Amino acid sequence: MLSKVAALADPSPEMERVSVAPAISVQNLVHRYDSRTALNGVSFDVRPAELFGLLGPNGSGKTTLFRILSTLMLPTAGHAVIMGADVAQDPASLRRKIGVVFQAQSVDPKLTAYENLRHQGHLYGLRGATLKKRIGEILTRVGLADRAQERVETFSGGMQRRIELGKGLLHRPGVLLLDEPTTGLDPGARRDLWQYLQMLRDEEHVSVLVTTHLMEEAERCDRLAIMNEGNLVALGTPSELKSEIGGDVILLDATGDAAALAERIRARFHVDTAVMGNQVRLEQESGHRFVTDVVEAFPGEIQAMSVSKPALEDVFIHRTGHKFWSEGGEETDPSSK
Ligand code: ADP
Repeated sequence: MLSKVAALADPSPEMERVSVAPAISVQNLVHRYDSRTALNGVSFDVRPAELFGLLGPNGSGKTTLFRILSTLMLPTAGHAVIMGADVAQDPASLRRKIGVVFQAQSVDPKLTAYENLRHQGHLYGLRGATLKKRIGEILTRVGLADRAQERVETFSGGMQRRIELGKGLLHRPGVLLLDEPTTGLDPGARRDLWQYLQMLRDEEHVSVLVTTHLMEEAERCDRLAIMNEGNLVALGTPSELKSEIGGDVILLDATGDAAALAERIRARFHVDTAVMGNQVRLEQESGHRFVTDVVEAFPGEIQAMSVSKPALEDVFIHRTGHKFWSEGGEETDPSSK
């Protein structure tokens, strides 16, 4: 009897293992360009049919990781496995399992939508009626069935990206990798593209990994890995990540020396403070009440203030101690605000 129970009990952990086998598994991935370390031991899993975001400022290592996952480059150390195939050991079989959408345009603008997809199909050995049917399905999937015979150069930026997406999906990959797919698109076309990604996850159960430096895109992901200078600094759902911040985020613009003001606030109220430029930043429960106390305690020393609920940018600051966008640098991106 006991052995029967054991036999019955045995399959369930195994089944559980099978059902949660990750679509992508990245383990201790390291990449160095000569002496510069672009990835410094990054590990995470992407689950099946998950919309997973890789968020980080410029230079954080997203493209390096993307190039390794898409088999364009070998890692210096560590492993990356996609649907059971190792990027370093088994790149040929892996390429058949993944669809890749690069930042740079790969569609031929002089060809029609249909012709672009036909060329792509040939690269994957698809031919004849099978290919024709598949192109029809894909054009319908990306909402361009009625534009099949028009040249891609006549399409809007958003429509051209959808053809790129179609190219990546033609051979029915289980995993789709996209590198900053909305670069250059207006906000409407961005939202539109994300709706297609969500539809792919929900209706075709494709696992999607997308790199982005835009907070509002990261908010749309099921889970996120946040990168900074080659390290993974946070991993979780957008709401899990934001909930790690206790209370409200308070920003105080100092009239004079922000560091001195931060020190005095710390001493007086026994709270952690951070200094960013001429601002003092705090995380505090019931922020509106706290700012009243601070302003009364330091009259004339605070020229402006804000109290807000935590956003993903606050998670980044919380984990790294600095802003997502460098002060006055070329990386300023007003669209992320
Ligand atoms: P991201 O995509 O997040 O902007 P990258 O992966 O492009 O980040 O870059 C990570 C780091 O590696 C940066 O410091 C960058 O300057 C460096 N890097 C990227 N590509 C090269 C290269 N081909 N040679 C040397 N350093 C590079």
